[in-house]
Amino acid sequence: MNNNSDQSDDFVSGRAEPPSESIVCVDCGGSAHLLTHPPEDGIWQVGEVVAYRCSDCRDRWDIVLAPEGE
Ligand SMILES: [Zn+2]
Repeated sequence: MNNNSDQSDDFVSGRAEPPSESIVCVDCGGSAHLLTHPPEDGIWQVGEVVAYRCSDCRDRWDIVLAPEGE
């Protein structure tokens, strides 16, 4: 009897790497600033989506948060 259940973590949950205050806009190279407010407890969750708005071209960027350490 061997169902070969490996402990792969294809579902990840928990604490995420905090998003940076601004990112470089892929379209125009300007700086896009974080629109999403930090959670009250200061803990970002993996899979949470944060939005950035470019101050140059006004494009919006949605970033999915990755686990800490990646
Ligand atoms: Zn831009």
